[in-house]
Amino acid sequence: MIDLYRVLPEEMDDLVVKLGHPRYRAGQLLHALYHESPRKMSDLHQIPTSLRDALVTAGYTIGSENEVHRVVSEDGHTTKLLLKFDDQTLIETVLMQYSKDKSHPRSTVCVSTQVGCPMGCVFCATGQMGFEKNLKAEEIVSQVLHFARILRQRGEHVTNLVFMGMGEPLANYDEMIRAVRLLTHPRAFGLGQRSITISTVGIIPGIDKLADEDLQIKLAISLHAPNDELRKKLVPTAGPHSVGDLIMAAKRYFKKTGRRVTFEYALIDDINDSTKVASELARVLKGNGAHVNLIPMNPTAGGFHRPARKKVLAFQQILRNGDVNCTVRVEKGVEISAACGQLRTDMIEKIN
Ligand code: SAH
Ligand code: SF4
Repeated sequence: MIDLYRVLPEEMDDLVVKLGHPRYRAGQLLHALYHESPRKMSDLHQIPTSLRDALVTAGYTIGSENEVHRVVSEDGHTTKLLLKFDDQTLIETVLMQYSKDKSHPRSTVCVSTQVGCPMGCVFCATGQMGFEKNLKAEEIVSQVLHFARILRQRGEHVTNLVFMGMGEPLANYDEMIRAVRLLTHPRAFGLGQRSITISTVGIIPGIDKLADEDLQIKLAISLHAPNDELRKKLVPTAGPHSVGDLIMAAKRYFKKTGRRVTFEYALIDDINDSTKVASELARVLKGNGAHVNLIPMNPTAGGFHRPARKKVLAFQQILRNGDVNCTVRVEKGVEISAACGQLRTDMIEKIN
């Protein structure tokens, strides 16, 4: 079975013609798939039955995700869903609706790319659950479409996308890129490339490959430490990717794409938040035009803690004094375990 939600527009043209139908039917099919979001073949009312039948005979299907559980934060700005795919896989995906500028409301979907994660970062709930599987492109796309369907009923739409859910996007490169192409293609979902951010733990060959894709997407590298000794304690799989090499890779990405890389830094109490570490980070990043986004640690089971607010601000000030652009991330959804690093399938226990 091949899910129509993994078929790129050019492939759809070829497919429709191969099945003996005029090419323009591919456009109709794509339009129906991405603007009406059908859940089964028989929902494709604009498409002639003969073409629908031919697609089914050729092994095509519309796989649909099922919403198993929904949690909405008290302020209504964050929605977390537990989705189940046909193979019984369960993943989480989050919608964040928050904007400083009220005239430009944002609806950002945070997508997962893997079930669990093989990178094992010690402070990350997903990393601690181990690795189960790579998601397929259609499973990534369906997270966005699911929210698009919900938003459409309210006259709203998805405006931004961050690959910051469960898993490491560059460790599932081909399926992740296929999903990005489907979500940004003007004949498919049509989201602006600039509205997409991919966050990586720092897989250098993947960063270089991404720079060559001819895509205008933003890249964030999760750094968490200014030196290798500390970084390896937090990201045990960091071995082959030194801090120095990551900074070089970020420079290459900027040179090729013209898009500046953001360094994410999860601030963990008494682990990587001292003034000494901040000064070292400022030294390492100085002169790079780098932007650092501090993420005060969200609680997970690992026994790590969030630093006091004044420590976070002191850390930020040291970077700014060192001429490094630095912001503190506004966290959304902590109380519903939807914030960074808290995505895990612990809801499974509750619903079983
Ligand atoms: N695997 C990718 C993307 C998913 S994680 C990556 O690591 O970048 C998205 C972001 O959340 C990363 O910057 C990650 O370091 C951060 N994160 C993970 N656990 C966290 C936690 N408990 N508190 C705060 N940030 C966390
Ligand atoms: Fe994986 Fe990112 Fe979590 Fe590390 S922080 S374990 S790379 S999801």
